[in-house]
Amino acid sequence: MSELAYPYEAPASQALFDRAAAVTPGGVNSPVRAFRAVGGTPRFMVSGTGPYLTDADGREYVDLVCSWGPMILGHSHPEVVAAVQDAVSRGTSFGTPGEGEVALAEEMVARVAPLEQVRLVSSGTEATMSAIRLARGFTQRTKVIKFAGCYHGHVDSLLAAAGSGVATFALPDTPGVTGAQAGDTIVLPYNDLDAVREAFRAHPGEVACVITEASPGNMGVVPPAEGFNQGLKDICAENGALYVSDEVMTGFRTSCAGWFGVDGVVPDLMTFGKVMGGGFPAAAFGGRADVMAHLAPAGPVYQAGTLSGNPVATAAGLAQLRLLDDAAYAKVDAVSKEIQGLVTGALSKEGVAHRLQTASNMFSVFFTDRPVRNYEDAKTQESFRFTAFFHSLLANGVYLPPSSFESWFVSTAHDERAVQKIADALPAAARAAAEATA
Ligand code: PLP
Repeated sequence: MSELAYPYEAPASQALFDRAAAVTPGGVNSPVRAFRAVGGTPRFMVSGTGPYLTDADGREYVDLVCSWGPMILGHSHPEVVAAVQDAVSRGTSFGTPGEGEVALAEEMVARVAPLEQVRLVSSGTEATMSAIRLARGFTQRTKVIKFAGCYHGHVDSLLAAAGSGVATFALPDTPGVTGAQAGDTIVLPYNDLDAVREAFRAHPGEVACVITEASPGNMGVVPPAEGFNQGLKDICAENGALYVSDEVMTGFRTSCAGWFGVDGVVPDLMTFGKVMGGGFPAAAFGGRADVMAHLAPAGPVYQAGTLSGNPVATAAGLAQLRLLDDAAYAKVDAVSKEIQGLVTGALSKEGVAHRLQTASNMFSVFFTDRPVRNYEDAKTQESFRFTAFFHSLLANGVYLPPSSFESWFVSTAHDERAVQKIADALPAAARAAAEATA
């Protein structure tokens, strides 16, 4: 894009980005934050209140990222902040068991029926890594099936996404992941049960588990086709493998019981993060008690963490979960629908081909006129239109995920004023998308 494509400046953010680049690779601590997919200056945020973020230049944005999902009550929710302050005043880490972690685990188990036991960790990556290890330890098998376009954190074996056909061993997707680490991962196209059956036929008695995003949001929003998750569960059960549902993104967001609350398919193991941490590093994996019993110290599969069950993180997570009742989900769902309608209305008015795909209150826009059922479909979208759309919204105070392969997130705090600000910004953004060229 030309310089003119960014018709505004963010000098304070740019100065921070320059400082950051000197001491941090690429200037960020997680790649997507660098705006590489859309260009321009990443906004360095200094505060968040309700549905708004304020950047280092003092500009306010309606936040449609919500920290990539966790901030489902909006930023600085007073009750979550109070719970954190109370916890901090009693100490920040003990390295011993504490009541907060018991209470958080109890709250999770009470909400999600298949979750009989849960182990707390500090990130979604740790949760999926540990769940895979446990599945292998429990089944005494080595291979893992995952789907192209599903992201499960930066676990070495799960970064393999480049399968070239059914039952083909994956190649590592990044330098640093060895062939040996990726070699036990089988990558299949999403929403394709035949490919899963074929992989099990090709590797009898070898597959420890199938891991899938409960409803994928990491290639944009691509929900499971009718019967897909149940099919996975059934195929796993027939073959003595575990069905691992990654609910790091969907957990406690898409309903009170996450995606399980939507489709009712019972996993053997589940993973969580994001919402359950209330904006702090808390995550978890859990599921069948007989499987979890294999985890140390109850069983032989080792797993541990200095900050696991941290008292401040668990206080934030518990406070957030306790505020997430049916009324809260109804509110998030309603505001999500309203924003979806505004987005698709604005794009349609300008004649921009697009597909708005949803999974409960998660949604994203693909700039294509065809349904997106898997990663290959997602990659056919006209991403250059997203870039123009993104920058126009950013210039007018709406903060979208800086990539067309991400879900958008809203919160209970997205009120009329925030929705109006989005509505006001959309016509110009839709025009920019319509006029964009590759
Ligand atoms: N699993 C899913 C479905 C995710 O969306 C993510 C992160 O976006 C992860 C796992 C990894 O979580 P974390 O970034 O906390 O390591």
